Amino acid sequence: MASRSLSEIQGRIACGNAVVLTAQEVCDMVMGGGELTLKDVDVVTSATRAIMSGTYAILSLPVAEPHSFVRANRAWINGIPTIAGPCPNERLGMVDLMLFGTTHSRDDSSYGGGHLFRELVAGDEILVEVEANDGRLFSRSVEMDDIPYAHLFSTRNAFKNYVAFVNPQPTKVSTIFHARGFDTSLGGATVSGCGQINPVKCDPYLETIGLGTRILMNGAEGFVVGTGTRSSSARPNLMGIADMRCMDPDYMGGFITAAGAECISSWAVPIPVLNDSILECIKSLDRETPLPIMDVNLREIVEKTTYGDVWSSCDLEITFDPERCAGCKKCTVEPACPMGAVTLQEGSIKRDKSRCFNCGLCITQCSSGAFSGNLGSINFGCQKVPIVLRQSDKARALKLAESLKKRILDGSFKMTQMVEKI
Ligand code: SF4
Ligand code: SF4
Repeated sequence: MASRSLSEIQGRIACGNAVVLTAQEVCDMVMGGGELTLKDVDVVTSATRAIMSGTYAILSLPVAEPHSFVRANRAWINGIPTIAGPCPNERLGMVDLMLFGTTHSRDDSSYGGGHLFRELVAGDEILVEVEANDGRLFSRSVEMDDIPYAHLFSTRNAFKNYVAFVNPQPTKVSTIFHARGFDTSLGGATVSGCGQINPVKCDPYLETIGLGTRILMNGAEGFVVGTGTRSSSARPNLMGIADMRCMDPDYMGGFITAAGAECISSWAVPIPVLNDSILECIKSLDRETPLPIMDVNLREIVEKTTYGDVWSSCDLEITFDPERCAGCKKCTVEPACPMGAVTLQEGSIKRDKSRCFNCGLCITQCSSGAFSGNLGSINFGCQKVPIVLRQSDKARALKLAESLKKRILDGSFKMTQMVEKI
């Protein structure tokens, strides 16, 4: 089996001789019948963007003048409860805290940690409230420049082979796996996972991804620190860390499900093509990448298909045609859009493309066809179940993979040798 080392590849990058391709470009070549060997590619950039519940922030925030209080007992940001500590920061007027991407505001279940992370990264002001150990309340508005420490961590992100969900039962189900609740009797499927471009699909045996592998998390450089919770050899996932101050808000955000706000994260991971077996994994296509189908009630796998159903012949981006908007008295899309990307402005409906997740829900909510795109369907035995919601945004994942490719080629992103296998 032909092979080479990471330092050989790094040398080729430094000399400007390396070939870096996105995982999508590799798969497109394979689909087109092209032969691709180790001589043709040095690094492949993989990526994924999805609702990733296992995301949290650790922040260190100034709240009051030193000696104003002894230590914080409880803290909230924009009304979202946090976990104050573990360091007491005694008499410093500061609070260290942990804030989960899935925690909802005490006042509004449609606003959560994912929304807050995006706003913070975008430079918005946030309100920190602290209850001190003597019961007194302190509050202060701060923005990212006032915050000495702001890192995002993941307990599990970037799952290989995520799942599709269906509801075979005759009753509607409200869940985080649908934005509006599941219709009954296989009325529609929701899907997650970026299939053939997912980092762990490209390196399923974690030969190149390990402790200390440099990655992009929401556009910022970060590192893999291990496998995540519920990771297994059949369905590995990753744990990582990155500095929020370097992140790009367009890769982040909150997504409103029928069970409240969830958190979106985006990862891009470079895969150095060290040997033929790694290249073979990268070359495997959506139609060869298993997609388990779960009954959302039982949380059990009831069928199996492949990511070919999800990504092979769909529209990655959802189109909005303002000409087709009938200007309804009450727009049904505006309250339904899980990203708040659709708003009424000066009498007409606008879609903010930078917020849009390409989930496709608007297609079923607008009877005038102002929103369009082919979401495809999944094969459930001999039945086809229409996909009604995507909880992964492959279009933006591809953008992050392209960005990583560019940064590797211009030398601004340095690939690292892992410290230890995970
Ligand atoms: S429901 Fe559709 S047609 Fe009606 S206002 Fe909204 S976008 Fe326009
Ligand atoms: S695809 Fe439609 S519903 Fe989904 S985020 Fe974009 S505008 Fe909103």
